[in-house]
Amino acid sequence: MSKKSADAIVIGGGIIGAATGYYLAKRGLKVFILERKFPCAGSTGRCIGGIRAQFTHDLTIRVMLKSIKMFQELHEELGTDVEWYAGGYLFLAFDEARKKSFEQAIEIQRRYGLKVDFISADDCGRIVPGLNREGLLGGAWCPTDGQANPFKVTYGYLEGVKRLNGQVFVNADVKKINLSGTRVVSVETANGDEFFSPIVLNAAGPWASEIGKLAGIEIPVKPDRHEALVTEAIERCLEPMLVDYRADGCYFVQHYGTGHFIGCYTPVPIVPGDSVDASDEFITEMPRRMVRLLPKLASVKVLRHWAGSYEMSPDGNPICGKTPVEGFYVSAGMSGHGFMFGPALGELMAELITTGESSIDLSEFRLDREWSKAEAMK
Ligand SMILES: Cc1cc2nc3c(=O)[nH]c(=O)nc-3n(C[C@H](O)[C@H](O)[C@H](O)COP(=O)(O)OP(=O)(O)OC[C@H]3O[C@@H](n4cnc5c(N)ncnc54)[C@H](O)[C@@H]3O)c2cc1C
Repeated sequence: MSKKSADAIVIGGGIIGAATGYYLAKRGLKVFILERKFPCAGSTGRCIGGIRAQFTHDLTIRVMLKSIKMFQELHEELGTDVEWYAGGYLFLAFDEARKKSFEQAIEIQRRYGLKVDFISADDCGRIVPGLNREGLLGGAWCPTDGQANPFKVTYGYLEGVKRLNGQVFVNADVKKINLSGTRVVSVETANGDEFFSPIVLNAAGPWASEIGKLAGIEIPVKPDRHEALVTEAIERCLEPMLVDYRADGCYFVQHYGTGHFIGCYTPVPIVPGDSVDASDEFITEMPRRMVRLLPKLASVKVLRHWAGSYEMSPDGNPICGKTPVEGFYVSAGMSGHGFMFGPALGELMAELITTGESSIDLSEFRLDREWSKAEAMK
């Protein structure tokens, strides 16, 4: 049992906690990151590394334009190769309604300068040789979207925190948050250690609601289960993340460096809860869906599959900012996009926490919003 003090405490050693901790430390704060298990033990270590600015919510697009710029420069910032690669994202439209919704989204995205087009089915075939174009009307194509390695990015940030006078505590399961009046004072872990700080950030991903309750705050984040698989590596044949939004669709990308394919689908209906059990259904369905899009994958073998949580907010947008408890902040509810949001939201939250405002106004993501502006490109 020990007592320690820091300028800021971050609960959660996933991408959001690691990135925000790093940018707080860069601003001169002594940062402690408290992680219940080990870094990337939550959603971050289970994600497939896709990064895109193709969204429909104005603020999300602006945040992602910033994040992509940061990913481009992250190897220099962190002094490590994070495997950033701009292979693009291609969203496929198989019916008129989807085509129209992509065209509407493109109109919004272009307002912020995103280089994005609705391209013909033939052009989709040129970008993805061997693509099955049966029923395909075209696709929303953005060449500046990309991919990176979630482990390398998160560990890169955590190493940065340590270089900047901070500490990362593993097996530090936060069980209690102590307040003095309406202000946060300290947090206690299961093994009896107490960490004092005037600033505590809830970056507990799918478990943000549980951490909120420790401070008497309702944080409406609910996990649901998503599965993923990785195949053996083959010679490079797919540049972009290919996204098929049909009810029995899927999304996958070929890892730039290694040639493995990695991908997921969104189950219908959703599977609530934070279970990480992988299912029989996924391992039979997902390869079928991938081969339907790219028949040349028929002979490629699956190596592994696993499950993790999307951390859903009521409107599918992040929850970032102050809470009613003074000094207690939240950055959670990333709704399945937290890896790509990590760099930008990390820096913006560090600005907000240290100065009271951020260079991109995050107030539309505040905890006490109406939840009325749902994200259409989830
Ligand atoms: C299959 C799958 C594919 C995905 N693909 C993508 C993708 O392509 N692109 C993308 O951007 N996003 C993707 N995501 C979503 C992304 O993984 C998450 O949005 C992101 O990792 C959330 O990061 P986080 O730091 O908020 O949460 P987490 O990574 O879950 O980190 C939270 C941490 O808090 C810790 N914690 C919890 N309770 C406590 C406690 N009491 N005390 C201390 N620590 C605690 C946990 O152990 C955990 O490590 C995917 C997710 C899944 C499951």
